[in-house]
Amino acid sequence: MLTASPRPSPVTPTIDLSAQGVQHGHLRLPYSRDDSAWGSVMIPICVIANGDGPTALLTGANHGDEYEGPAALFELARTLDPAEVSGRVIIVPALNYPAFRAGTRTSPIDKGNMNRSFPGRPDGNVTEKIADYVTRHLVPLADIVLDFHSGGKTLDFLPYAAAHELPDKAQEVRCFAAVAAFSAPYSMKMLEIDAVGMLDTTVEEMGKVFVTTELGGAGTASARSIGIARRGAGNLLKHAGILAGTPETAPTRWLDMPSADCFSFAQDDGLIAFERDLGESVRAGEVIARIYPIGKTGLAPAEYRAAMDGVLAARHVPGLIKAGDCLSVLAVLTEAP
Ligand code: CA
Repeated sequence: MLTASPRPSPVTPTIDLSAQGVQHGHLRLPYSRDDSAWGSVMIPICVIANGDGPTALLTGANHGDEYEGPAALFELARTLDPAEVSGRVIIVPALNYPAFRAGTRTSPIDKGNMNRSFPGRPDGNVTEKIADYVTRHLVPLADIVLDFHSGGKTLDFLPYAAAHELPDKAQEVRCFAAVAAFSAPYSMKMLEIDAVGMLDTTVEEMGKVFVTTELGGAGTASARSIGIARRGAGNLLKHAGILAGTPETAPTRWLDMPSADCFSFAQDDGLIAFERDLGESVRAGEVIARIYPIGKTGLAPAEYRAAMDGVLAARHVPGLIKAGDCLSVLAVLTEAP
């Protein structure tokens, strides 16, 4: 997958990523356009380094409408004292910065979905150029990568940190140890609908420890979910040995997505009425939600039934749904992996 192109990245950091102390700057990507002939996209980046030690790469807003990552990481970048750090923390609070500015999942420039654009291309669109820079210039610096996600404007999740089943079992163990250290209320062994193009896959294929999250959604972030994100980032830095101390653990409930039966997709347009809330149990065959036709009264809703026993781990938002939308995700409570 990692066919490193010899073509140099057009991205220039305005700070020295290898310098000691605190640096706030940008990844500057030339982007010529109507309102700025020789303009650039300026992606905020912060590096906090002190002496020898591992490097953590912390990223948010890989999808532009997911807010726990940016909320935790703008705060961490502002407050982390290099004297507390052994090694280096690289913080990119809003990876798909054009999308983040627009409050949209994908970039308004090229409709690029950052987490379907990896490993990226140095000669691609703006989103692919950012991805390529991350792949070839940031991830190789890192020992551990934390990429914050939540559901954005069209999904809402139970708050969990997650890792994937990996071909390298020793690496998988390291990833789940980091998930446990993050200490979200839930911890997931995550199955992807399609792992191609994800930062996750790129980092994992480079042999690094990778942790992702789904910490809520519905196009906003709550005090609770931001608190989970802040504590999790601190815990991960402690786990990596970059911050002193032991992770501030809290009880977590382990979840597994054992097969594609956990996903349900709408086949109808209409008004969605859930029969379960996030975290509630459902048995195979029970109704998860009904979709009502909204053109006239008197029509029966379409019933969506669980294909397996589980708890509701994610659900569609807002109240109207279209055929093809992800309606729900079920997961099963399990022992720690
Ligand atoms: Ca996401």
